[in-house]
Amino acid sequence: MNKEKTLVIVESIQQTVDQMRMDDIEELPESAFEDFQCDCCGNEKILAGSLVYSDYHLCNECVLTAETSFAFNKISTIDDLIKSTKDKRFENVYNSLFENKNNASNPIN
Ligand SMILES: [Zn+2]
Repeated sequence: MNKEKTLVIVESIQQTVDQMRMDDIEELPESAFEDFQCDCCGNEKILAGSLVYSDYHLCNECVLTAETSFAFNKISTIDDLIKSTKDKRFENVYNSLFENKNNASNPIN
């Protein structure tokens, strides 16, 4: 898979996950202010855009990591993500998609 195609897929996942958060806030405005502890990154995050995968409740950022990881076969189950992202973040997964980090240092913005 070439870099451009990879970027297109990543961007479409980001849009979907962003949309989830916006939909949640629209349907349930208080979800933007309610916190919970994410089972993946361990941080206190807002409820909006969070998602439950089997036994785990993931924040919006971790949903993005999970969906990206699934899309590129980096993980096969959510347990893999919980184990592998104990200290890591989306940047690690993201950077691993590109062989040349210099050209992809900040392609999202
Ligand atoms: Zn999280």
